[in-house]
Amino acid sequence: MRDILLFLDYDGTLVPIKKAPELAVLRASRRRLLERLSRKAFVCIVSGRSLADIQKLASIKDIAYIGNHGLEISYRGREWIHPKAKRIKPVLNNVLERIRQKTGDWPGLLVENKGLTGSVHYRRLAAPLPKKLRDITEYEVQLRSGELKLTEGKKVYEIRPNVDWDKGKGVQELIRWLDIKQPALRIYIGDDQTDEDAFRALDRHDISILVGKRQDSYASSWLPDVAAVWKFLGALLPMIVPPPFKKHRDRGSG
Ligand SMILES: [Mg+2]
Repeated sequence: MRDILLFLDYDGTLVPIKKAPELAVLRASRRRLLERLSRKAFVCIVSGRSLADIQKLASIKDIAYIGNHGLEISYRGREWIHPKAKRIKPVLNNVLERIRQKTGDWPGLLVENKGLTGSVHYRRLAAPLPKKLRDITEYEVQLRSGELKLTEGKKVYEIRPNVDWDKGKGVQELIRWLDIKQPALRIYIGDDQTDEDAFRALDRHDISILVGKRQDSYASSWLPDVAAVWKFLGALLPMIVPPPFKKHRDRGSG
């Protein structure tokens, strides 16, 4: 049997998107399901959040985590940070501070510094998104376009180091760490525009699942919402050949 590598986006995939990012906590029963899955398959949570944040929120031991859209990876005590992104940190801090200064009195706006990237969340902004916010963010990022770039998520502007790196490249980097003898089946589930990079990094023998609908997605299949993702994961669990069977089979052939 092929090994299964399961890559799961977090917000909008494992938890519904909350107005306050800190409220997106995993339910205990769902955490247990992921723990059980991780004993039969390789499990990795992939997020735009910082590594520290996503590890704390998901709070599952012995699985892999990819944070900051692929720029940070942690697995079994090994930690990796994209070297160029690390060098750009002071520039990012400065740009986020300037955006904060220009928007400080806007109720509901959250400018979040995630270490290697920044997020300007406007989900809780009382008034409809003022064009001014986009203009300010674009302007400030443009001033440092050699180091930074702007991308858009769901009700959020993401300010990221201008490096050729994304969730897909993070996934590929992590797979290189694993000692996999034969081609594994990779499953990636995600809802965001940034997950498209990971969908693209897979090939036709893998399974890419978009949560929700989007036109022109690279995903090969889709699920309607977070509840459907958990139904899928629950159905997947008993289907994976448990390790004792694998050991038995290995003995038989050797
Ligand atoms: Mg997401």
